[in-house]
Amino acid sequence: MAASEESLRKALAEKLSAVEAHGNTVRALKAAKASKPEIDAAIEALNNLKLEKSSIEKQLQAAVGVGDGDGVLSRETFRQAAVNTLERRLFYIPSFKIYRGVAGLYDYGPPGCAVKSNVLAFWRQHFVLEENMLEVDCPCVTPEVVLKASGHVEKFTDLMVKDEKTGTCYRADHLLKDFCNEKLQKDLTISAEKAAELKHVLATLDDLSPEALGSKIKEYGITAPDTKNPLSDPYPFNLMFQTSIGPSGLSPGYMRPETAQGIFVNFKDLYYYNGNKLPFAAAQIGQAFRNEISPRQGLLRVREFTLAEIEHFVDPEDKSHPKYSEVADLEFLMFPRDEQMSGQSAKKICLGDAVSKGIVNNETLGYFIGRVFLFLTRLGIDKDRLRFRQHLANEMAHYAADCWDAEIEGSYGWIECVGIADRSAYDLCAHSEKSGVPLVAAEKFSEPREVEKLVIAPVKKELGLAFKGNQKNVVEALEAMDEKEALEMKASLESKGEVEFYVCTLGENVPIKKNMVSISKEKKKEHQRVFTPSVIEPSFGIGRIIYCLFEHSFYTRPSKAGDEQLNVFRFPPLVAPIKCTVFPLVQNQQYEDVAKVISKSLTAAGISHKIDITGTSIGKRYARTDELGVPFAVTVDSTEDVTIRERDSKLQVRVSVEEAAAVVKSVTDGQRTWEDVWEKFPHHSSGSADD
Ligand code: AMP
Repeated sequence: MAASEESLRKALAEKLSAVEAHGNTVRALKAAKASKPEIDAAIEALNNLKLEKSSIEKQLQAAVGVGDGDGVLSRETFRQAAVNTLERRLFYIPSFKIYRGVAGLYDYGPPGCAVKSNVLAFWRQHFVLEENMLEVDCPCVTPEVVLKASGHVEKFTDLMVKDEKTGTCYRADHLLKDFCNEKLQKDLTISAEKAAELKHVLATLDDLSPEALGSKIKEYGITAPDTKNPLSDPYPFNLMFQTSIGPSGLSPGYMRPETAQGIFVNFKDLYYYNGNKLPFAAAQIGQAFRNEISPRQGLLRVREFTLAEIEHFVDPEDKSHPKYSEVADLEFLMFPRDEQMSGQSAKKICLGDAVSKGIVNNETLGYFIGRVFLFLTRLGIDKDRLRFRQHLANEMAHYAADCWDAEIEGSYGWIECVGIADRSAYDLCAHSEKSGVPLVAAEKFSEPREVEKLVIAPVKKELGLAFKGNQKNVVEALEAMDEKEALEMKASLESKGEVEFYVCTLGENVPIKKNMVSISKEKKKEHQRVFTPSVIEPSFGIGRIIYCLFEHSFYTRPSKAGDEQLNVFRFPPLVAPIKCTVFPLVQNQQYEDVAKVISKSLTAAGISHKIDITGTSIGKRYARTDELGVPFAVTVDSTEDVTIRERDSKLQVRVSVEEAAAVVKSVTDGQRTWEDVWEKFPHHSSGSADD
């Protein structure tokens, strides 16, 4: 817990007991009919204590991030304003709205589609193009066998509790999380120790077993949020949407819960396509489906969403990355596992230090963490509200070497938007085993290498005579011995001539004699090393990133008259749905013709724009486009030159009609900044553009 919050909780507890004690004193004085001056003095002291108490309450509210503070919008009020604008301007729309919608399903409207396509275009440029990744596009409908091999059929579950009377389902960890957050934020009277305990529960929530989760729910007396009825014990619910492929109903399948499996099953062909060379990465953008138990928080938890995933295949013995030095000096908020366990908060760490100290497992994982940081901040995510949180030991799958989530802070708290995991060789091994197709890579040696190999050669004739129908089981068990076991057997056979050997498929010991198996170590020349590659997987929830971007870009500012708050999205040109608007200042044929000429040049330059020749006041037209986050506006107020206004500063420059489209293109393409434009062109001096 932050020191200030802890000391404020202590101070508040002391002040509350002082108020209570003083209240008793006043009551006692009144009961004893003490003198008026004496009672008045006691009341004044009590009032002073109450004032001090409410001042500490205010500070504590600010420390835990609630309340309207001094004119600062609370998280809920802020979200309301942003979401109202987003839905009103059709950035997104609840799907099937005229039929009252379906929880967890959303449509993107026109500006939302444009933002999404800009985010995906930048993702392709920043990752696929930069690293020469192999992009694939696989089906959403996936046969059961694939998801059985990957473990999803058995394990892709969340823990659910049911309202024991109505049967309504809830996600068990969400109920516990909400309870802890609410207590911490709204119950200012809890002791510092209790607050530390609740924070520890929050930090280790993903670590809790079904039993531990169930007993916490009971301990805190958590009931169904809507009815206050008791809840069932938590039990697992599989999140995949099941279907069947073809009309017979005999071929079960699922809508994919992630895009990664499509890449793994194609590994052999992709490796060949890449000239049988490692490392290489494959990438895929596509829809994923998860039947979330209780979707909420708008675009953040939905039942169908776009994932963009990278599977970077690498030699497990060499996880260095050739471009690692390009990101090693980056410094940003990181939240290693030890800091989380000891209740500290995320702090700025140099990525290179985190890798060299072993906090981040290897260079390639570090490289992708750095690239994800650059990707998100270039999109417009505020770097001070972005942190990389390491998974706790139990939160991580047993096979994973290390995992970090890029979490973005918004009105719902810290939200995981990108998962970056070193999944070792798990997925390729699982599919090799199930399909019988080896998904391996080979390192060819420039010179053949001499290696000593253990050779176990069961003598089938002797084993057949001794074990008859069980011969196959004994042969397989002998061949499956590891080196230590085999060498021990060899030594025993040489000294005693016979050993007892446990065959697990028979469930019993059998006697093995010296003539039944030959065990030796032989020198062999090898031309290559065959191994299963490790995979490092950055997985991006595109909808979550976009929603966080909406929140980080949204602000309000007073209108010129000061009578209303106007909404603005400060999208960088890279993601803005429309880059520019073109307005004639007043309705006039000549100005309209100029506006059309500029619009034509913008189209030719590939700049998305909107031309507005309505008679609405210029201030209103600016306000309308600010709400869509349009970064530049060209206003035609003469036939020779025009003004270009920048959205956030509202500053304007004068540019010739011929140059206008090229200037807008250069500043939206990132060839130059608005500051460069401001320096180069004459300023338009009629005060703010909105005048
Ligand atoms: P996971 O495979 O669970 O690590 O998820 C990968 C990414 O998908 C996460 O980092 C999220 O950004 C995103 N994601 C997961 N579940 C959802 C959901 N229900 N709605 C929207 N995005 C999700």
